[in-house]
Amino acid sequence: MRAALLVLNAGSSSLKFQVFEACEEGPAPDEDRPRRVFRGLFEGLGGSPHLVIRDRDGLIVAEDSPAARRGRYGHEDALLAVAEWLRGHRGGYRLAAVGHRVVHGGRAHTAPVRVDDAVLDALDRLVPLAPLHQPHNLEPIRIVRRQFPDLPQVACFDTAFHHAQPEIAQLFAVPREMTEQGVRRYGFHGLSYAYIASILGDYASELAAGRVVAAHLGNGASLCALRAGRSVATTMGFSALDGLPMGTRCGSLDAGVVFYMLREMGLTPDAAERLLYTRSGLLGISGVSNDMRALRARAGADPDARMAIDLFIYRIGREIGSMVAALGGIDAIVFTGGIGENDAATRAEVLRAAAWAGFSLDEAANAGGGPLVTRGPGPSAWVIPTDEEAMIARDTRAVLAAMRQPVL
Ligand code: ADP
Repeated sequence: MRAALLVLNAGSSSLKFQVFEACEEGPAPDEDRPRRVFRGLFEGLGGSPHLVIRDRDGLIVAEDSPAARRGRYGHEDALLAVAEWLRGHRGGYRLAAVGHRVVHGGRAHTAPVRVDDAVLDALDRLVPLAPLHQPHNLEPIRIVRRQFPDLPQVACFDTAFHHAQPEIAQLFAVPREMTEQGVRRYGFHGLSYAYIASILGDYASELAAGRVVAAHLGNGASLCALRAGRSVATTMGFSALDGLPMGTRCGSLDAGVVFYMLREMGLTPDAAERLLYTRSGLLGISGVSNDMRALRARAGADPDARMAIDLFIYRIGREIGSMVAALGGIDAIVFTGGIGENDAATRAEVLRAAAWAGFSLDEAANAGGGPLVTRGPGPSAWVIPTDEEAMIARDTRAVLAAMRQPVL
């Protein structure tokens, strides 16, 4: 049986997974790019589960709507089903390690870490910092520990990439004791930005050492200012609500609005949180959709859909200014995430909003998806697909190799 590294990204009712194996063509022993063999998605967990697994070429190799053996079909059933499928598929894969996406590492976890009891307890204590995401990220860690106690597990954090930002970029202007308690800017999308930083040099060697604004624009959206591949500022802060407006999240909001929601609108803290996370952003403004494709399709005839897009672009334009100020200039912008990689209109509108920085859009290259979508002497703009799972796979291998437990 071949050894497989499983990468998990768990949500409340979903489990995204990818499977990596050692490259058979014989990579150098220090090769840090394990080969992806499958990617899969379990949706509808707890309700009507549906599983699709695709191979490297995107062809469906398994599809199922499994029935619960007992009670509801949840994450535990899903994980067992994936392990069983892997054991039986084409000669069989044996799980050698699991790498997890974990949204919050807090102050203590500034790098990927092998999970043990103490680490799991520490990550549990961070649930109040990311109540809507952290519990779902930790559940599969517990399941794997229960079902496969000997399997090494590594947690990779969305916050870790930003930990080395200057202190001033991490502070809120609140009393020191609140900062000490952990009320500070952490930043998110760190796995995506770490991946982008790691491959900038493949696109243009000068970018790796330059001043780059990376724009991760998907359902969640943020900007990160990179200097020589390191994060010096980012738009998300204490929570993944801050910064840009997103699919359903509000982005930056005067804290006074929250008091108004509690006192005048009579919302409970939980209801206010749900409203700002799930009913705001592009969905809140447009009233119809959080999905950029749907908004683009309606924008010609629906002023609210157009306004949602316009606000998204306006806020990105303003925040680019803030990132450029933190960098003291700009050499390039990188678009990534579902919108950044696929929506040429958003890229064009953002570059127009940031024309003051000297971008000169190459319309044809932009329509064709780049990678370079500007021309001329000003700063450049690039389309670079992100790959958070590859980053987790690399980090997991590196952590285990450093512990003299190589898995692939
Ligand atoms: P997540 O943050 O959940 O990973 P994605 O990065 O997949 O989300 O981004 C989802 C967003 O990307 C949606 O708003 C979707 O409409 C948008 N998107 C995906 N493909 C396209 C496309 N071809 N044109 C415009 N928008 C697209």
